[in-house]
Amino acid sequence: MSAVELHSPDELRDLYRELILDHSRSPRHFGKLPEATHRATGINPLCGDKLHLDLKVDANDRIEDIAFEGSGCAISVASASLLTDVVHGMQTEDAMQFFCAVTSRLTGNADPDIDVGKLQALDGVREFPSRIKCATLAWHALHSALADQSVTVSTE
Ligand code: ZN
Repeated sequence: MSAVELHSPDELRDLYRELILDHSRSPRHFGKLPEATHRATGINPLCGDKLHLDLKVDANDRIEDIAFEGSGCAISVASASLLTDVVHGMQTEDAMQFFCAVTSRLTGNADPDIDVGKLQALDGVREFPSRIKCATLAWHALHSALADQSVTVSTE
């Protein structure tokens, strides 16, 4: 853990809490893509989270469409939902950069060079080390899908 830790103001934390709750209750891009070019399944045995990610990447390496489905705790579902919202329409290269930025933020090595926008909502998870794998699960699935096209990843 780094010695310097930046804390958001209380109001901001409440806002982010609301954002997580909102995404866990009404996940965005929930479902399957019949024409997916890349797929991955992510499993977090510690918590029982399981999700499947479908991506449709076009000829210019742009994530044309993305969807996920599965079941898990509020944090894993909210994180997957936020992920689909953020990387939809993004170049795969940029999505990989986001993977690095988000996972390093969550494991305590915040990268100040990349503005992760509303994904800062996940920062609160750092206070609950056992839940970090819930938050990173969808991101590992995204990384694996883009790297290998069709895989299953487990956090254990
Ligand atoms: Zn979980």
